[in-house]
Amino acid sequence: MRLKDRVCVVTGGASGIGLAIATAFDREGARVVLFDIDMAAALAAADGLANGQAVSCDVSDSAAVSEAFDAVVERHGRVDVLVNNAGVVGAAEYARTQAIIETQAKERETGPVTSFLRSLPNLSDELWHRMIATHLYGTFYCMRAAVEEMEKTGGVIINMSSITGTNGGFGNPHYATAKAAINGLTRATAKELIQQNIRVNAIAPGFVDTPLRDSISDWVRHSQLAATPIGRVAHCEEIASVAVFLACDESSYVVGQVISPNGGYLI
Ligand code: NAD
Repeated sequence: MRLKDRVCVVTGGASGIGLAIATAFDREGARVVLFDIDMAAALAAADGLANGQAVSCDVSDSAAVSEAFDAVVERHGRVDVLVNNAGVVGAAEYARTQAIIETQAKERETGPVTSFLRSLPNLSDELWHRMIATHLYGTFYCMRAAVEEMEKTGGVIINMSSITGTNGGFGNPHYATAKAAINGLTRATAKELIQQNIRVNAIAPGFVDTPLRDSISDWVRHSQLAATPIGRVAHCEEIASVAVFLACDESSYVVGQVISPNGGYLI
């Protein structure tokens, strides 16, 4: 019961890593509030928790985030832990670039690569803004609202990054940029906020088995595994256990770190 009675907000808590974190927090005795854009899935997820609640919230909408935090404070009186996890990958761009990466592999066997990814020319303003708004603006809006409450009592903030934020990645410069910016936001705010007993850290997972990976081709899946020394993708629970550690008092001296459970992909 390492999080007994702590009020924990998990964004994107209806699916994948967010749901695993919500479930692990619930098992540790927390009062878990799921913010998600998919309210049906969030309600179903909250139903499966001993002490869970779903709140409809698009984290990229500043006003919606304020309202959602107001609802949490009205019901629970405070916010102890925030996990900024909501995210999208951009499945259409992913599908387009995967096909080219496979073509490039074949071209490389017989000569120079002549098919190029052309990620930037293919990124519309709309795709760029949606990615940055969901990950980076969403993280900022939720942090700002949570800190207003945590200033009274202290608290913990965990931002979901990715190995892509450190290592880049093919075909998704907008995603990699958002995650790199989240690392920067984590470090900058951690330095300041620890003075007010608010601990900020990030988790940067490697490849994790979630619905977000449904659109990945067998070829890309295989090459990701080949680059991951442990030889498999992570289970969501293996990311959730890092979140529990960062949320509870056992990590009281961990400040401003980007912890990367990645099976050895980045060493
Ligand atoms: P997922 O698709 O299973 O879950 C994402 C959740 O976020 C969904 O419930 C979705 O409805 C919600 N969401 C999306 N946009 C939202 C918005 N604007 N407002 C509120 N909720 C929103 O994805 P996942 O794989 O569990 O990813 C969770 C986080 O982990 C993301 O930030 C992702 O970038 C990061 N991550 C995932 C992997 C991986 O391999 N799956 C690796 C590294 C980092």
